[in-house]
Amino acid sequence: WQQKWIIGNWKMNGSQSANRQLLQALLKPVDVAAAHVYCGVAVPNVYLAGVNEFTRDTSLAVGAQDVSRFAANGAFTGEVSAQMLADVGAQFVLIGHSERRQYFHEDNQELLIKLQNSMAAGLLPVLCVGETLAEREQGQEQVVVSAQLDVLASLGMREVVVAYEPVWAIGTGKVPSVTQIAAMHQLIYQQILSLCGEDVKIRVLYGGSVNAGNAAEILAVPHVDGALVGGASLQADSFAAIIQAA
Ligand code: 13P
Repeated sequence: WQQKWIIGNWKMNGSQSANRQLLQALLKPVDVAAAHVYCGVAVPNVYLAGVNEFTRDTSLAVGAQDVSRFAANGAFTGEVSAQMLADVGAQFVLIGHSERRQYFHEDNQELLIKLQNSMAAGLLPVLCVGETLAEREQGQEQVVVSAQLDVLASLGMREVVVAYEPVWAIGTGKVPSVTQIAAMHQLIYQQILSLCGEDVKIRVLYGGSVNAGNAAEILAVPHVDGALVGGASLQADSFAAIIQAA
């Protein structure tokens, strides 16, 4: 549990050949860091099985970016269940990424079901939370993030992994100050402890414009247990440098 986590979120990017090239270049840095860094990539569903095949005997974990809110299987055209993701090698799944909240209007009611489905299938959920720029400008960031975390209340989780990703920092090159990150991670720790009980194990990753240049400083902030990396995870050099900084 002491390891830092560095997770790449490929979002809707990649191709079979580009994925192979990227993964090939990551194997060595991931292996070198394996004792103290848990590395993973969240890939588009269509590439999960292939990426899992490629990384089978390596330390690089593979995960999904979303999961269906529907059951294990059935008449839900176009959906992919948690069981299916686990079946093709996913170990973890992002839940409630801000792009899902924004474009697919995911709310706590839906995310609760996605969390339950993931847990039932043995997938580790990584719950993503974070405020928009407007919410930050109104001083609402703590209220907003606390409300997003409330979804954890009834789940009885013994281990909780959350990614704090301020929406205004995602893909913008804008990063909160070290003080702002520390305050939010502190709040998230406290909130999880009060929702899940004092003996819960907690890991809070920071996400939003993490790159090779700022990773070391961000990862040194108290209660920052790792990073969720978007754009920079698509470049082998950058992602490897972030892993090395952890
Ligand atoms: P960027 O690292 O591209 O800002 O994206 C962050 C993110 O959304 C990871 O889930």
